[in-house]
Amino acid sequence: MERARITVFDTTLRDGEQSPGCSLNVQEKLRLAHQLDRLGVDVIEAGFPIASEGDFAAVQAIAGTIRRPIIAGLARACSPDIERAWQALKSAARPRIHVFLATSEIHLQYKLKISRQQCLEQARDSVRLAKSLCADVEFSPEDATRTDHEFLYRVLEAVVEAGATTLNIPDTVGYSMPEEFGELIRNIRQRVPDSVTISAHCHNDLGLAVANSLAAIAAGARQVECTMNGIGERAGNASLEEIVMAMRVRPDRYPYETGVIADQLFPSSQLLSDLTGSAVQANKAITGRNAFAHEAGIHQDGMLKNPLTYEIMTPQSVGVPDSTLVLGKHSGRHALGLRCEQLGFQFDRRELDEIYRAFVVLADKIKHVEEHHLLELIQIHRSQEGRSTAGRILQGHVGTTPVVAGQSYIHTSMPVPHAAEHNSPLHPAIDHHADQEDYLWGV
Ligand SMILES: [Zn+2]
Repeated sequence: MERARITVFDTTLRDGEQSPGCSLNVQEKLRLAHQLDRLGVDVIEAGFPIASEGDFAAVQAIAGTIRRPIIAGLARACSPDIERAWQALKSAARPRIHVFLATSEIHLQYKLKISRQQCLEQARDSVRLAKSLCADVEFSPEDATRTDHEFLYRVLEAVVEAGATTLNIPDTVGYSMPEEFGELIRNIRQRVPDSVTISAHCHNDLGLAVANSLAAIAAGARQVECTMNGIGERAGNASLEEIVMAMRVRPDRYPYETGVIADQLFPSSQLLSDLTGSAVQANKAITGRNAFAHEAGIHQDGMLKNPLTYEIMTPQSVGVPDSTLVLGKHSGRHALGLRCEQLGFQFDRRELDEIYRAFVVLADKIKHVEEHHLLELIQIHRSQEGRSTAGRILQGHVGTTPVVAGQSYIHTSMPVPHAAEHNSPLHPAIDHHADQEDYLWGV
């Protein structure tokens, strides 16, 4: 069966970055944008250029550097915003101006203090202006799900006439229910020409952002707006990795394709949490550190007999390093080096020795050294060494933010030995011979 293609519009750098504690500087945004390019998203919303000099610079840098995906910049429905967005975007190979204006009665009355007629005209005029600058124009009626439907359809028809090519329907406050949102999308789909793409932008205030996005797709939306790890305002946006893997695991119910390269999901998630310093919740679907933890837990016996007993997708399929192999104190230097490489780091012998010594001390205290422990050891090592001598990052998988004190018990209870401590009896690693260290993985 022919599968419809869903455009994945990533707004990690705009809506995601707006969330508390997730601010990024220009270099960090550029680095994440490169990873989103590797991940295969179709659109990168790089920022809100008029919001700050930093946002402008980030959008401009991304537009000038990343050529494959469409680069979008956000603008309110007014000329200074639209012109500023265009200034930032104009060097892009495939620029898109994303104009938004609230349409719900509550926003018109209390926030914008304009009438419906004024709203309609402002939406139409701003899309017309954006269209005069850029062929690709997206329009979002903010708070669409709390907007009077008849008025919403009128606004959408007016902006399509003015040149909008994508109509994004935001559930700005995370209020909608899946069947209700699907019905709204279906009604809009029937009213606008087929050449116009309908998009969904769902927030997670009731934990329904992904469910609503999937309902929208089933109802005819062909673009989804989402973020890595579901970061975003308040409870966040729809999670990119969950939407993509839902369609991949259940093509019988959701026969749609995306351009996302699934084994880049975990590295993207790791990079984002590293750059923002905000960890992914352990039980987060797809990218949380426990998402595949049954492999080392009580389901292990079934897993070893047949992974399908407990697995609807493999960790490898989303880029999680093979977690059937558990690092313990009997693990060797070679095994440790291999795991570091799987996590995106390559170390020379001396560096690996240092991390190995810290690893063995830790493995003596806790039974299994998990990936997040290892990542913390690596980060501590790197923050002590300084970037110039620390491990070379492969593909930018994991970033450089030092572990924040208080988030890591390793940091406080597990000092990492320096080279000077090489002969300390506290560090039994020095007795290990490299040749004997290679095949001692526990399962
Ligand atoms: Zn939003």
